[in-house]
Amino acid sequence: MSLEKAFELIEKRKDIAIKDLAEFIAIASVSAKEEFLVEAAEYSAKLLKENGFETKIHETAGGPVVTGLMDVGAKRTLMFYDHADVQPAEPFDLWDSPPFELSIREGRMYGRGTADNKDEIVCRIHAVRAWLDAGLELPCNIKFVIETEEESSSKNLTDYVEKDLDFFKNVDGCIWEFGGSNREGFQEFILGVKGILYVQLSVKQMTIDSHSASATHLPNAAERLMHAVNSLKDKQGRILIPEFYDDIEVITNEESEVINNYNFYPEEMKEHYGLEEFRFGMNNEEAKNAYFTKPTCNICGITAGYQGEGGKTVIPKEASVKIDFRLVKNQNPDKILKNLRKYLNDNGFTDVKVDWSNGYPPSKTYVNDDFVKLCQRANKRIYNHEAAVQSTSGGSGPMYLFGDHMPVVSLGCGHANTNAHAPNENIYVADFIDGMKMIITVIDEFKNWK
Ligand SMILES: [Zn+2]
Repeated sequence: MSLEKAFELIEKRKDIAIKDLAEFIAIASVSAKEEFLVEAAEYSAKLLKENGFETKIHETAGGPVVTGLMDVGAKRTLMFYDHADVQPAEPFDLWDSPPFELSIREGRMYGRGTADNKDEIVCRIHAVRAWLDAGLELPCNIKFVIETEEESSSKNLTDYVEKDLDFFKNVDGCIWEFGGSNREGFQEFILGVKGILYVQLSVKQMTIDSHSASATHLPNAAERLMHAVNSLKDKQGRILIPEFYDDIEVITNEESEVINNYNFYPEEMKEHYGLEEFRFGMNNEEAKNAYFTKPTCNICGITAGYQGEGGKTVIPKEASVKIDFRLVKNQNPDKILKNLRKYLNDNGFTDVKVDWSNGYPPSKTYVNDDFVKLCQRANKRIYNHEAAVQSTSGGSGPMYLFGDHMPVVSLGCGHANTNAHAPNENIYVADFIDGMKMIITVIDEFKNWK
């Protein structure tokens, strides 16, 4: 049977999907404020249930996690990972319409969560519904995992996954929460995320600040911290913590090819940031390569001494710096944290305190994985082109929780000016509809996956 009937149903019922999205957007589920997370979970569960899924709401120490299951006894299983929470909508006055009311203008739907990621939840559930109502037989079982704290670093997702590991077994492929088309209008697939280790280094040398007349003989915490930070990298940016690079997995030829083919927009980037060139004089190709394959050690902020208007002659008693390490495949944040501590000790910086604030490993699905190929075939059928592939995002996320068990492809119905996390977040209605057709086609491709 062809998919035409299902496509027709999608078109015919688009107003119902939009109404569901409007109701969902109206729930101001801002995880940073811990507001309306239960309501957003209950709404997700209701959508799943009324569209034929067996549904559970799992309590956690924070926002709940919702799971949906449609078990048709198929050999293969497709999973979706999404989140029902959103970023804060402030500053409200920069929105052209209220953020928690869906507003449709010139073919676009505006509202907080229209692109990240309530649209995908509604899109994916309605796609499955259209498939079933068209009288088609599902070639795969379908699972949903919808959490409510993604925008607050998925604080309780690990605990949930560890308790419900069986749910993650025997899944053949997972579609991750975000994605869409790039500025040239091509769909993009993202196959991984970097890991992260976020730490604060701090030094306290005196009980109170001092008049700088005594800088002849009193210790300066800012100076001490600068020396410690300087010891982390050489002048070419190579990170000097022992064993830092040892575990990094070598990039496959297929991945190199994908990186080569990816348009990185280097000139636009330089113009955007007012740069003559990239750091260390990297050329455009080197910069692109580094983005996809290299780990980082980045100073996010430094605090010490007097920074107000005018001058104040003072010796700061304490100083601190926040550093994030973005990690690539096979680097382990726990090991790096341990080696960082040891390295500081070995170099005489036993007085530099290291506080861990966040960390998880990277995750990556190989570009030649069967599930990636399956999604590419579906993409070609719907959008008439091969999706542009990013082998990893430069950002981080808890993808390893899933990626350790199954291949993961991030794709969706956003676009280059979707304004995720920003005012006037939006998606095109047409992309929302095409997104449903894409999901149906992915399901259809499972028929050919023996
Ligand atoms: Zn987000």
